Amino acid sequence: MFENTAAFAAKLDQQDTLSSFREQFIFPKSENGETQIYLCGNSLGLQPKSAKQALTEELEDWAKWGVEGHFHGRKPWFHYHKFLTDFTAEIAGAKPHEVVVMNHLTVNLHLLMYSFYRPTFTTTPSGERKPLRYKIIMEAGAFPSDMYAVQSQVEGYGFDYDDAVIELTPRAGEFTLRTEDILNAIAEAGDQLSLSFFSGVQYYTGQLFDIPAITKAAHAVGALAGFDLAHTAGNIDVKLHDWDVDFAAWCSYKYLNSGPGNVSGVYIHERHGLNPETRRMSGWWGHKEDVRFLMKRGYIPEPGAAGWQMSNAPVFGMAVHLASLQLFHDANISRLREKSKTLTGYLEYLLLQAKAENPVLQFEIITPNNPGERGAQLSLLTDSKGKALFDYLFSQNIIADWREPNVIRVAPAPMYNSFSDVFAVGQAFRNFKG
Ligand SMILES: *Cc1c(COP(=O)(O)O)cnc(C)c1O
Repeated sequence: MFENTAAFAAKLDQQDTLSSFREQFIFPKSENGETQIYLCGNSLGLQPKSAKQALTEELEDWAKWGVEGHFHGRKPWFHYHKFLTDFTAEIAGAKPHEVVVMNHLTVNLHLLMYSFYRPTFTTTPSGERKPLRYKIIMEAGAFPSDMYAVQSQVEGYGFDYDDAVIELTPRAGEFTLRTEDILNAIAEAGDQLSLSFFSGVQYYTGQLFDIPAITKAAHAVGALAGFDLAHTAGNIDVKLHDWDVDFAAWCSYKYLNSGPGNVSGVYIHERHGLNPETRRMSGWWGHKEDVRFLMKRGYIPEPGAAGWQMSNAPVFGMAVHLASLQLFHDANISRLREKSKTLTGYLEYLLLQAKAENPVLQFEIITPNNPGERGAQLSLLTDSKGKALFDYLFSQNIIADWREPNVIRVAPAPMYNSFSDVFAVGQAFRNFKG
């Protein structure tokens, strides 16, 4: 179905109804002024041209209004987070009151685990306090920040990481986890399991986990299911509400193109979010909005995820995020996902062809080859020449990324990458001389 020619790639670009979104982004240039082929949107997405204006508006409102900008700016800061709510709900497949944008990703993971990782204990007849339901199950080799967050959470309750955390490793000779093995491990953990905590798309392998099946399995043993969607948001058309996921969080700077270190999005299912009794870390910004500025004691949460806000909204970052979310709204996440399947499939085809033709190339694509089990990213497990290949790609104006110890990740983002980009990458691989 694919052809390895520039003309075929150009034809796919012509048929691509999302191709014009590329014009909305700024592409970095090499030292000699050539536009780079950017396949690193899984790490830091490109800058939307609209970002600067969005940021400038807030600087102008601050200059014009000072503190009054909280109520009189073009987008009053007092409830700034609300300008992002509907677009965020689209990205998450959630109801608007189930999402909020706040803080940063790892911070939010901690806040969510404070709410949803709730070990239970019993006292033995001899008076010993024993944990009952206290385990967390996750993939081995999760993103380090997630491992560190989980470690401090379980240690905070006095548990050993190795006892309290079940890390799942692929079968011998395999690179990714089989869904059946995940579901069996959850069932096996049974009533000791407090929380299932997986990625959506795994950052290293590019595997998309079966979020609804994992959620269902966790619920079947009485556990909760949360997901880190850092590599998923803006990449996969998730349906968090329909999939009955308990909570999730993601960052805005990877596929969501909102700039380095920018804010995080949070999803909390309404069964938890609308219950004012749900345990949380509270702060004044989650306090009921109409009485927020009365400065009284006694916390009354805003209903839904908004009731998890602690601090007042970081407007500059959010302004850029909002500009980017507007593009996702315009492009539509389902359409992006459809394009993405073809775009990544085309890249896979070209890389495998290059490998068949060029004996110098040694790599294995460890990302699942089923488009339903991956997003935009392909992870190439390389040999000792891997770093040389990566450096060569850079010299050819191709920005991929390198993950220790030996993986090259390439991620064509459907929002701004073209089929011709991907074709050029395939050509570069073909010409690699080692
Ligand atoms: C990128 C990423 C992070 C980064 O966390 P920050 O708090 O935004 O620095 C955390 N977890 C995963 C899975 C990631 O991919």
